[in-house]
Formats: sequence, C-alpha cells, structure tokens
Amino acid sequence: MNKPQNIVDTFGRVHDYLRISLTERCNLRCFYCMPEDGIQLRDKAEFMSTEELIFIAKKFVDLGVKKIRLTGGEPTIRKDFSSIIKQLGELPVELGLTTNAVLIDKYIDDLMEAGVKSINISLDSLKEERFNAISRRGYYTKIKENIDLLIKNDFHIKINIVLIKGTNDDEIIDFVKWTVNEKIQIRFIEFMPFDGNNWNFEKKISYKEILTEVDSFFGKDQVEKLKDAPNDTTRNFKIKGGLGSFGIISSVTNPFCDTCNRIRLTADGKIKNCLFSQSEMDLLGAVRNGEEIQDMILENIKGKEKERGGNKSFETLDFSKMKNRTMVSIGG
Ligand code: SAM
Ligand code: SF4
Repeated sequence: MNKPQNIVDTFGRVHDYLRISLTERCNLRCFYCMPEDGIQLRDKAEFMSTEELIFIAKKFVDLGVKKIRLTGGEPTIRKDFSSIIKQLGELPVELGLTTNAVLIDKYIDDLMEAGVKSINISLDSLKEERFNAISRRGYYTKIKENIDLLIKNDFHIKINIVLIKGTNDDEIIDFVKWTVNEKIQIRFIEFMPFDGNNWNFEKKISYKEILTEVDSFFGKDQVEKLKDAPNDTTRNFKIKGGLGSFGIISSVTNPFCDTCNRIRLTADGKIKNCLFSQSEMDLLGAVRNGEEIQDMILENIKGKEKERGGNKSFETLDFSKMKNRTMVSIGG
C-alpha cells in the first residue's frame, strides 16, 4: 500500500525531484567527469532493467515525487531509452533529460511523444577543437546541429558549461553573447570534486569572478537579475533585451543546499540523498529480494546532511581523503 507521507528530511526539506541515472557509460570522455583511464565496466545484471527502473520510479512517485530527470553517464546510449521515456512519460511527473546531445536527432520524436520539454545539454566550449579535446571525442558539429534541431522544435534548452581555469574560462563572454540572440539558458557550473578528476579549489571559476567579467563587458546596468524559481540551483540573469538568459551554479563557493529537493537513483539502483553523500542504500537489491522499498527511501532521506554530504567547505577539504563515486557513476 502507498505511504501517505512525503519524503522529508530532518531539516524539513520536502524531496519531490528524482534524478535517475540510466547508465554509467558514455559516448564522450569529458576529462572533468570521466577518469582518464575510463571506469571499470560491470556486468549488465548489476544495473536496473527497464522493468526494475520503472517499478522503482513508481515507488518514488507514490511518495510524492513530481519531477524526474534522466541522466547518466549518457542516458541516450541505453538501447531501451525510447521505452523508458515512453513509460515514465505516462506517470504524473514532469519529465526532463540531461544529455550530451550526440544522439538527440535519433530520439527527438520519442521525446516529443513522451512530453519531455526541458533538455539540459553539456557544451563546455564554442570552439570545435577545444570542445573535442575536453570531451576526447569528435562530436562538436553533431552536437551543435542537434541543439539547433531542439531549438527549432521549441524545447526548453539549458546549456551546461563546467568552467575550469586555463581550459575554457576565456569563453564566458562568448557564451553570454549567444543568449542575446537565441532563446536558450546558459548555466556556468563551478568545477566540482569527484573521484579521479584531479580537482583542486583553485581550478574553479567562482560566481563572483563570472559576474564581474560579464558586468564589465556588457555594463552593470545591462545585466538584469531574474527571479529564481523555488529550489532552483541556479542564480539567473539576462542581458537586457536579449532572448535568452544565463545562470551560475555555484555548488563549490556558494551552495544551494537550504532548499534542496533532490534525490538521486544510480544506474545500479542505489538511492543517494546528495551528490556528495557517502551513504547509499541498495533499492535494487531489496526489490530483487521482494522487499518493500518505501521505508528505505524515507529512512535514507532522514539521514541527509544539512549541506554537501557533510562537507562544510570545499576550500578546506582534503580531497585525497574524500570518498565518492566518479560523477559518471553517480549521475550528474
Ligand atoms: N552525459 C550527460 C551530460 O553530459 O549532460 C549527463 C550526465 S553529466 C554527468 C551531467 C552534468 O554533470 C553535465 O552537465 C556535466 O557537465 C556535469 N559535471 C560532470 N562532472 C562535473 C564536475 N566535476 N563538476 C561540475 N559538473 C560536472
Ligand atoms: Fe559523458 Fe556527460 Fe560525463 Fe561528458 S559530462 S563524460 S558527456 S557523462
């Protein structure tokens, strides 16, 4: 029987947004996400099947989840991707997708049929050679074409850019200029630490640095602060008169944990209550043993830390002691 309660943590935060990772695998190798030597591939049986994934997703919906976003790894490389979005599209949720967009042309009709409107796309550079070097593959042109295709078909597009000092931090203005003429939202994300990505605090570009640069290029009076939606992780702005907008996700220097409503389900069926949480529960194992999982979900969220999985500040973090999965195996 369904539990009547919502998923609430000890700080009173209601969790109604589930991010499901469909796979740990990817057709790109972005250096800040995938360890240089790749991740160790595991047996298919360790991951949720289509049926298991839908079954578990429904349990979350019964507990009040209203929004589901599919991510990975690269969610579109799963062979059953069409079937998954079709079935999730029938649930009473807002369904979204985070993708590198390499395969979007293949799935655009399925996405429209499933009612997916919001698509987040990673594109860390507007320079072909640089993007292909960051992602260690050669899909820049294909991705740009697919972004145009989505814009033409009225999808709500957000472009995610992980800014890294000395890599792409000279493109902040070029990205913001893009929003002047196109109805897209650009989001600059601070580089975050995960296993195997050689993070250090000095490599991130902070919220303040980005705004200072944009203000000085466009003029402070031309940069308008927009109202942020509740639970939004992004602080949003636009250039006056522009069609699109830009935002900053400052998970490292200025986190947004106070209003966090996110739960993550990894491709191998573990619930993770924060990107940086080190406590996971095996929902898939429980389902396979015929156990009820709703109490596990509620208990896991009760153990959620106030901020960043219990890491008070990344500035003083001893990264060598931090244990977490790679981003690609958590689901970004
Ligand atoms: N493959 C899809 C994509 O690239 O959009 C979905 C998965 S990816 C892990 C989700 C998001 O996580 C991407 O926007 C990516 O830029 C972001 N990401 C990965 N590693 C990160 C890191 N170390 N710091 C900040 N963001 C990161
Ligand atoms: Fe793949 Fe996305 Fe990670 Fe890039 S950011 S390696 S596209 S999962």
